[in-house]
Amino acid sequence: MALYFYNCDGFAQRQIVSWEPVIRNVLQNAYVPFDLRSCIAQDLDYGRVVVECGMAGTGKCSRVRGATYPDRVLICTTDGPALLLHELVHRCGGNEFDAEVFENYLFPLRNGAAKPGDEDLDEFRAFGFRGRFAYRYEDLVYTNEGRVLGYYSQILGTTGLVY
Ligand SMILES: [Zn+2]
Repeated sequence: MALYFYNCDGFAQRQIVSWEPVIRNVLQNAYVPFDLRSCIAQDLDYGRVVVECGMAGTGKCSRVRGATYPDRVLICTTDGPALLLHELVHRCGGNEFDAEVFENYLFPLRNGAAKPGDEDLDEFRAFGFRGRFAYRYEDLVYTNEGRVLGYYSQILGTTGLVY
């Protein structure tokens, strides 16, 4: 169990290290598809995750909260584990819909989860509200294993239905 760091000060490293058990715990206690759960667990177990820290509002972090690159994930805030989970979903091949669904499903209204913005909604539409690990059908969000995660409006939106 190990995370590696690039450009993170001691405070940020301690914060981010403390998120790892939180992420492992929520993955065990929720309807997370087996392939996503095992992919994230393996990335953590085998020390495959390099976290780069950036400063919110500047440089690479001027327009995003985080990002996933082939060799590392960029974290622009130390607010909580939700954002790191979001980037780990991308690392496992999830698109924006997947990442937002599991971020908000696993960390509802706490630990730094953020509801999707307008650009995210455009991307959801472009992919038909369908990801690799989750999809929306009518008002509900399902996993790729067919389990209901909940109402789309509760997990991802507060402004009513968005098509
Ligand atoms: Zn994302």
